[in-house]
Amino acid sequence: MNCRLCPRECGADRSESAGVCGVPQTVMIGRACRHIWEEPPISGTRGSGTVFFSGCPLKCVYCQNFALSSGQGVKISVRELADIFKLLEDAGAHNINLVTATHYALAVAEAAEIYRPKIPVVFNCGGYEKVRTLELLKDVVDIWLPDYKYALTLPAEKYSRAPDYPQKALEALLYMRELAPEDVFDKDGIMQKGMIVRHLVLPGNTENTFAVEENVAKYLGENTYFSLMGQYYPAGEAARFPELARRLKPLEYKLAVARAEKLGLVNTFIQFSEEEESKYTPVFDGTVTGGIYGAKC
Ligand code: SF4
Repeated sequence: MNCRLCPRECGADRSESAGVCGVPQTVMIGRACRHIWEEPPISGTRGSGTVFFSGCPLKCVYCQNFALSSGQGVKISVRELADIFKLLEDAGAHNINLVTATHYALAVAEAAEIYRPKIPVVFNCGGYEKVRTLELLKDVVDIWLPDYKYALTLPAEKYSRAPDYPQKALEALLYMRELAPEDVFDKDGIMQKGMIVRHLVLPGNTENTFAVEENVAKYLGENTYFSLMGQYYPAGEAARFPELARRLKPLEYKLAVARAEKLGLVNTFIQFSEEEESKYTPVFDGTVTGGIYGAKC
């Protein structure tokens, strides 16, 4: 089958070779564990049961998980993926968190038929999605956790070679909102259904951040759960771009927060740290465990 799961529509026959996303049809993962560095309604106290899939259709030059998006990981069967869902659920995870699974949408849907988790399923993605692919997952996913990286064409082209990202992401986000029109939390504040939109604030790209925030307020509404991530550090090939070769300045983050407030985005998660954030990036050696990453899992 010629793959057209993501907006790249590269048409690769992934039974024979990898597409632009860098991985074949057989599922590859870098790690599965409980993870506590997501937003509080996702991580909770027991961690999010996270499956880090290898490969990525977007391949941003500054990717904070560069080894993983470049295809590092181990091959597993669909049955093993279903077993991982069960293992993470049994370990006490609040949810099953599928990180960058767009190019494995068919396998995820198949695995969920083998074992449908009793806890919410989170689709944690780059935002560069096709509505038709999301449709395949509409009965599987409870919580949509998309990035909204760019609202401007220039950075989308420059950093991700995806000038159509702003349009595709907006279409995808609107469709996700349609699929999950309400944000539902349990008594402990853990999200059960809904959507959280994420934006990684890039150094030297304040205009893009403002444009993203404006679109979130305008098209998705002021009550949207919006995560403004300020933990950027130069990774991957970021050093090739002088503006990306440094950490984010506190002032750049403050401007982003102020604009969100001005736009009336009342449900914004603030996360800024000047610490070395790469320490929170798991090692993608294929480990599968119910333990919490960073706590000797
Ligand atoms: S998911 Fe991968 S193989 Fe499929 S269209 Fe996108 S880049 Fe190409």
